Amino acid sequence: MPNKQIGAFSIETVIEQDGPMFDPGHLLPDWSADVLDEHGDWLIPRHFDLDSGMLVAPIQSFLVKTPHHTIMVDGCFGNHKERLNPRFSQQDLPWLDHLKDTGTNPEDIDIVMCTHLHPDHVGWNTRLENGQWVPTYPNATYLFAETEWKHLEAENAAAAQPMAHFVDSVLPIIAAGQSKLVAMDHAIEDGIRFEPLPGHTPGHVGLTVEDRGVKSILIGDMIHHPLQLAFPDWCSAFCSDPALAIKTRRDFLERAAGTDLIVAPAHFPAPTFGLVERAGDVFRFRYDGE
Ligand SMILES: [Zn+2]
Repeated sequence: MPNKQIGAFSIETVIEQDGPMFDPGHLLPDWSADVLDEHGDWLIPRHFDLDSGMLVAPIQSFLVKTPHHTIMVDGCFGNHKERLNPRFSQQDLPWLDHLKDTGTNPEDIDIVMCTHLHPDHVGWNTRLENGQWVPTYPNATYLFAETEWKHLEAENAAAAQPMAHFVDSVLPIIAAGQSKLVAMDHAIEDGIRFEPLPGHTPGHVGLTVEDRGVKSILIGDMIHHPLQLAFPDWCSAFCSDPALAIKTRRDFLERAAGTDLIVAPAHFPAPTFGLVERAGDVFRFRYDGE
């Protein structure tokens, strides 16, 4: 699976599933088939599957290892969870085996962080054991941005019925006493810190990973799809504050373009890591090694 050395630190993806899974008009409401005329050369086949007409994107986690910490970033959908979308409901996928393939066991993880609390980023926070949802990582502290936690708590309180991912993937962590609410710029250790990237959700954060002059950032869903470099004002259908999401994205792209900042968006396919480049008035993603 894609991985990257950042000084003495490493980042590796742990993929839950990959392939053509997302209806483009559903994920990106500004989408039209005309996009393929201008951008088909780089979209097909890596990001768009002509046969199914679906966007290709992985659901994956990122494992960050430092001499001091083993950090799990984002939790995919998880197994055995009841979800509205049948594609992601009652999954039984070998994600834990993929984690073990990296040489890491759940017991080794000492910190978990979620870029935000959407269902595809919190799933493996918990797993089903004897009919109960228990923390997947028994020795970990789970860091939640307080703003994000409060947002989800309020959303859940206002919902007609309890939100499934809140109940099965977030509340059990609180109940187990393994959670810690932190600021949106929380520092984990030298070179590893949260970075506020709000808009997709109010408490959405990235994770900066820097060592020995090598700089990188995991940006979650701040850029959901590479088309948002060509069209920075396109938002996903799941952004809670589109105007803020656009501002955050444009500010970030302006800052990252032409620099050696290694960027890893949550849903970009392998090799996932890359650099932001300018392309006229907009931007493009140059994947690692290309
Ligand atoms: Zn996502």
